[in-house]
Amino acid sequence: MAKSPEQEHPRKAFGWAARDNSGTLSPFPFSRRENGVDDVTIKILYSGVCHSDLHSLKNDWGVTNYPIVPGHEIAGVVTTVGNNVTKFKVGDKVGVGVMVSSCKQCENCQQDLENYCPKMILTYNSKYHDGTKTYGGYSDIIVVDQHYVLRFPDNMPLDGGAPLLCAGITVYSPMKYYGMTERGKHLGVAGLGGLGHVAVKIGKAFGLKVTVISTSPKKESEAINRLGADAFLVSSDPAKFKAAMGTIDYIIDTVSAVHPLTPLLALLKVNGKLVTLGLPEKPLELPIFPLVLGRKLVGGSDIGGMKETQEMLDFCAKHNITADIELIKMDQINTAMERLAKSDVRYRFVIDVGNSSML
Ligand SMILES: [Zn+2]
Ligand SMILES: [Zn+2]
Repeated sequence: MAKSPEQEHPRKAFGWAARDNSGTLSPFPFSRRENGVDDVTIKILYSGVCHSDLHSLKNDWGVTNYPIVPGHEIAGVVTTVGNNVTKFKVGDKVGVGVMVSSCKQCENCQQDLENYCPKMILTYNSKYHDGTKTYGGYSDIIVVDQHYVLRFPDNMPLDGGAPLLCAGITVYSPMKYYGMTERGKHLGVAGLGGLGHVAVKIGKAFGLKVTVISTSPKKESEAINRLGADAFLVSSDPAKFKAAMGTIDYIIDTVSAVHPLTPLLALLKVNGKLVTLGLPEKPLELPIFPLVLGRKLVGGSDIGGMKETQEMLDFCAKHNITADIELIKMDQINTAMERLAKSDVRYRFVIDVGNSSML
């Protein structure tokens, strides 16, 4: 008979889990594996609340295996290291992002692209090769192979830094890969949520002119005054939109609802690049004329490899970039999820796990 989550491993852990597609989270005693020779154990202090957590809790993608403990923007302190661990020592400030394992042998792993490994194991709602489930950061401790652990730079706060482990790398990696970092060029950021607000900051740090493209005129002053964007474009203002056509070099599209690409492609100059990062539940229509006639490119991207994630954290620390967060206690998570569903957050909830009762 399968063992209960509480008994399958030797180390007691406490988290908050959803048991069904109501998505309601409540206290969940479970267990973590013994710290292996390549592992570090992390006392979790902060856990960011990503939109994927909400989708997973509600089984929006049809792949949720309950009970589920979400959380893949994890920041904390190392409490145990295995004998083979060279990268970390007890007391180090560290993070864990979206993945906790991969095969380490395939072509992607060999090129530091563990995020595209066919055997990549997600931080939660996934299974290790021995069949045991992964549980994420809405919990007090986690045990992870050192290869999948990131070092927090000394000057980076753990609370505002945690969301970079998903939101930060998701926008940084495509900007590097697609060559969207040339100083003085013009970046458009479509959608100003968890990903978009970090994209604005990273874009400015690369020396780009940044325009936020949004459906919500209310966000204009925040985009410019608080986040440092240079311009703001409301998609419903045809005159302004027309004036901006053909003026943008790169667009990071973070919109996860089904939306038309034609207006975004119209904003791009010849040779412009549009990278889509949201995951709409239905395919988007791809207009070919503007691509062909303007040599434009549409691409996608999913988080980033371990090496690049560390590079992103170091880059953000150097430029004093963190996410703008609202810190909550664990027992406020259900209300926070309701607000997140309405995009009512500036711009990321982070759970203060270290100062929360998990029971
Ligand atoms: Zn995420
Ligand atoms: Zn692999």
